[in-house]
Amino acid sequence: MARYYLAVCRQCRRSGEKLMLKGNKCFSKCTFDKRPKPPGPQPARPRRLSDRGTQLREKQKIRYSFGMLEREFRRFFAEAERQPGVTGDSLMLLLERRLDNVVYRSGLADSRAQARQVVRHGHINVGGKNVDIPSYLVKESDVITFKEQSTKTGYYQKVLEVIGSKMTPGWLAIDKKTLACKVVSLPTPGDLDMKLDAQAAVEYYSR
Ligand code: SF4
Repeated sequence: MARYYLAVCRQCRRSGEKLMLKGNKCFSKCTFDKRPKPPGPQPARPRRLSDRGTQLREKQKIRYSFGMLEREFRRFFAEAERQPGVTGDSLMLLLERRLDNVVYRSGLADSRAQARQVVRHGHINVGGKNVDIPSYLVKESDVITFKEQSTKTGYYQKVLEVIGSKMTPGWLAIDKKTLACKVVSLPTPGDLDMKLDAQAAVEYYSR
């Protein structure tokens, strides 16, 4: 089945803010800076979003930020609902544990899109075993490394050069010489780095 993704920069324009989906490129050539209005024909007067429209927009912002299709996002939401505690927090913490997000957050990739590609192309091992599933959920004490063969690539060398300037959240520890990343503990709400309104997504699905 064809997989449909809205072109990346259009996702920012539709969301009404910069979601920084292209990593470093977002700091130099940004389409949103030039055309901040939503894509498509513009209404004569700016429309005021209904509550439902606002909830949808917030939900889409989270989905776009993690580069997920609706079906996969719904699957994460259903899992979050099964967990004890606040569903919005559970959703964000589950998303934070995705392997592509961990590769991005530890500084091994510039963006989640790049991290997803690195994982999909089989460059990443978890606990010594190759894992090429971006939605894989890391666990406490997992160690994420590049596959032996992948340490000989230009990409690995480039990451080694820039890793010193990257910030890593407290729940991850990266060895800047070997690029091995350890999950020291599972993330908590305080570890989330994005201003995303997960509660709006919960309300969107609750109707
Ligand atoms: Fe969004 Fe980055 Fe594209 Fe700018 S360059 S519109 S921040 S994805």
